[in-house]
Amino acid sequence: MADGSRSYLARPMAVGEARLGWATAARSSLWARCGCGREAAIDPRPWLAQGLSRQVLHDLSHRLRCVCGARQAELEIRGLAEAPGHGAGGIYVFR
Ligand SMILES: [Zn+2]
Repeated sequence: MADGSRSYLARPMAVGEARLGWATAARSSLWARCGCGREAAIDPRPWLAQGLSRQVLHDLSHRLRCVCGARQAELEIRGLAEAPGHGAGGIYVFR
């Protein structure tokens, strides 16, 4: 008799479970969003150079700093069309 309890591996993907390497896909970009409302495009290359391409984005959030003083910001991958063209900035990679 089949055990149905293992049949839900394809659960909906939360934003925080995306991996850094996905940001290098065509027409994708990596963005950080702070609780203060700031958003900024993040260059993933320094992290990729550290071999973090398989790192879950949520685990990198504490490596960001915002000018408001926050010591973390949530990361997400967006298509280029979703990226705001103005009013962005103020969040940077700390390490
Ligand atoms: Zn902030």
